[in-house]
Amino acid sequence: MIAVYDTMARAVTGVRPADARTLTMYTCGPTVYRYAHIGNLRTFLMADLVRRAFEYAGVEVRQVQNITDVGHMTDELFDRGEDKMLVAAGIENRSPKEIADYYTAAFLEDVRAMNIRPAADYPRASEYVPQMIKLVARLLERGHAYERDGTVYFDVRSFPGYGRLSGNTIDRLRPDHRKEIADPNKRHHADFVLWMRAGPDRAIRFPSPWGEGYPGWHIECSAMSMALLGESFDLHTGGVDNIFPHHEDEIAQSEGATGHRVVRHWLHGEHLLAEGRKMSKSAGNFYDLRDLAARGHGEPLAVRLLFLQCRYRAQMNFTMDALGAAERALTRWRRLVAGWTGAPLASPSHAAAAYEDRFRALIAGDLDTPATIALVSEVVASADLGPGDKAALLARWDAVLGLDLARDADASPPIPAEALELVARREEARLRRDWAEADGIRRRLAELGVQVEDTPEGPKPRRGAAPTTA
Ligand SMILES: [Zn+2]
Repeated sequence: MIAVYDTMARAVTGVRPADARTLTMYTCGPTVYRYAHIGNLRTFLMADLVRRAFEYAGVEVRQVQNITDVGHMTDELFDRGEDKMLVAAGIENRSPKEIADYYTAAFLEDVRAMNIRPAADYPRASEYVPQMIKLVARLLERGHAYERDGTVYFDVRSFPGYGRLSGNTIDRLRPDHRKEIADPNKRHHADFVLWMRAGPDRAIRFPSPWGEGYPGWHIECSAMSMALLGESFDLHTGGVDNIFPHHEDEIAQSEGATGHRVVRHWLHGEHLLAEGRKMSKSAGNFYDLRDLAARGHGEPLAVRLLFLQCRYRAQMNFTMDALGAAERALTRWRRLVAGWTGAPLASPSHAAAAYEDRFRALIAGDLDTPATIALVSEVVASADLGPGDKAALLARWDAVLGLDLARDADASPPIPAEALELVARREEARLRRDWAEADGIRRRLAELGVQVEDTPEGPKPRRGAAPTTA
């Protein structure tokens, strides 16, 4: 059993699989019209840690993480009929499908770079529209929804448990709580859209019993989680900003349709600040892994170590100085582990067993990762463990920490697949003597923290700080 803070229970609660064998978990995934920023990655890492904690304890995990490619809209954008995917498509001059495919690949690259274990399934919302339509129909049938002019709304007053997760009960919600234009078709201001009629300018649209339209964001997660994990599953994860309205609405939909509780436990990761402030494009503190690489921080596992130094449910402040310190610690540990590996194990080592017990207790006790990192330092400095025992302990713990402690510290980090693809494209451009294209690609590679040297044997990419672009 692993204990985590259950948002619904408002307490640290023991979680175990309902069927005693496989833990089923659903993780709210990325919206693929931009790169995942490091705050998103921190939330995905929390899901990875809880999963690794169960796997370390010998419990199998079946994890599903959705890819929102049908234009996740904030409510105000939603009501104006705009779609971030399309807005991005306008800016980037590509089709919505091309944008979604591009950023899905980038997301999977980030997952790999951060040593986040891949989910069993990454359902794309665009491929589950029939399941969403069925769910909306079920809610209509059970009297939890109503249709006006081709748009279907959830009737919050038909669901007495509304607000249980977030505390935003119907009587507490002000008419302008969603900061959207008042919709005269709604019976109550807290009602939300399940299915939206497509306006004339809408590019992504699907046929439905209510005319052409597209699904709301919340119905996506209800439909995909139940389609892949069944109508009762163990754990649902996301960021604290998902609690309301996204998860509150998801509960109303899933429980409204089935008539019973669907998610057994809710787990949420806290906000990440950067340089002491909320991350935003305008403040210049909005980072993804590519931005960090361009600033000379090309080891994503140092970001992972930095995140492990703060517990998932505490707000964290990201700074470049702290990232630099994490890089130095990681390099030092890898050098030490390399030197210790292969040394004989002391037998029997009661000291090693005691450390192992402490590590397990810290992980099982609400994922106390900062204490596990302190324990790593303690093991490194310990006088009562031999080098062989130290190497063995750290290698075992790395199954949870995911820091590649056995990796050669002095080898440069691997070149991302995205960059390798660009190197190949640049080589093709050079062969065509398209120098402008080749130079453009070189600049993009530099942004990814990758330099290319042209040698007689072909291009040689290597990790390296790009010239600083402040
Ligand atoms: Zn979701």
